[in-house]
Amino acid sequence: MAVPKRKTSKSRRDKRRTHYKATAPTTAVCSNCGELCRPHNVCAKCGHYNGKKVIEIKE
Ligand SMILES: [Zn+2]
Repeated sequence: MAVPKRKTSKSRRDKRRTHYKATAPTTAVCSNCGELCRPHNVCAKCGHYNGKKVIEIKE
């Protein structure tokens, strides 16, 4: 198995990671209540999906 000859320094490791960044989660607008929600998921605010009430939301 190929093994690195030298330990990757903190500097080198961190420089490589400068390209990593968090991306904003994708959102969709609920067609029933207009709230932002995750696409292809039941709305957390009103419990609707694809125009139908799928789950009951308890307060
Ligand atoms: Zn909704």
